[in-house]
Amino acid sequence: MESCLYCGKRTKLFPVKMWNKDIYRYYCDEHYGEAFQFEKEERRRFIEYYSVPERRKWLSKESLELWEKLKTSSDIGI
Ligand SMILES: [Zn+2]
Repeated sequence: MESCLYCGKRTKLFPVKMWNKDIYRYYCDEHYGEAFQFEKEERRRFIEYYSVPERRKWLSKESLELWEKLKTSSDIGI
């Protein structure tokens, strides 16, 4: 059974998609907002950091593909 990753509560859980994976983690109503903001912020930082073309040379092929995908969706406002 799922439980909140912050406090372990097992009721009123909401899924939050990880910013870099197609994996959902569960948080209770109290921690859902915080977790959602955290994933959003991590995604924003990743996109911003690698928006410098020189830095993208360090990324693996998979990470580069992820960056391109996230950048495109953030450009169109998803
Ligand atoms: Zn919680």
